[in-house]
Amino acid sequence: MVARTDQTTDPTLLERLIQARRGTAFFARKLNELSDAELDGDSLLPGWSRRHITAHIGYNARAISRLVEWAATGVESPMYPSTKVRDHEIDFGATLNPIALRNLFAHSAVHLNVEWRDLPADAWHHKVKTIQGRLVPAGETVWMRTREVWVHAVDLDNGASFADIPAPVLIRLLKDITGAWASRGTDKDLLGRVDGHPALGFGDMKSRTPLQISGALADMVCWATGRGIAGVTASRDGRIMWTVPAAPAWI
Ligand code: ZN
Repeated sequence: MVARTDQTTDPTLLERLIQARRGTAFFARKLNELSDAELDGDSLLPGWSRRHITAHIGYNARAISRLVEWAATGVESPMYPSTKVRDHEIDFGATLNPIALRNLFAHSAVHLNVEWRDLPADAWHHKVKTIQGRLVPAGETVWMRTREVWVHAVDLDNGASFADIPAPVLIRLLKDITGAWASRGTDKDLLGRVDGHPALGFGDMKSRTPLQISGALADMVCWATGRGIAGVTASRDGRIMWTVPAAPAWI
């Protein structure tokens, strides 16, 4: 008899699972609002249609399910054999007929949710490997999925915006991105500030004339992910700039 509730009782993890499930429901809603013909339209990602986004989200759930199965069984199963295979899979998925494409998303999301639900409490600490080759506890798969469903729901370019994303998800996303810039050193001469969130300040504290970027949390995350500059102000030497420079690359 399979349990119908999560096996973990860790309150932080349960909260994170809620954000992943809410994000999946949000993606589903934005996808369902699109007609089959509209699936052919462009997404916010250069070179990707909405079909590519949907296929990517479907195969991403399968890939993350493989990691959860790995944590459950101890039998190593990578997300993807290679990034090339991953990219081919997305290109193929984008050619599926609309029913198959929608089923790919729906079935893979249900399967992942079952894998999470049935993962024994102690197995959440087992180590699995991300596509970048990082070893992380299985609990990290929840965040890996959370950021995909929320951000790519915006990428469907169907009325969703970063303002729809819950603040805890936005905060973690911004910390991930600005942390990656800091470790790569790509935030030189850049200083960021988030209205109402002093602890989220980021960038090059040593620069004497930094490019200063500021705005509300959702607008700053939108900018940081390379999705737009609305609501973001850029200044240097106290002078407001006419154009907001693009953020450093994220991934
Ligand atoms: Zn993605």
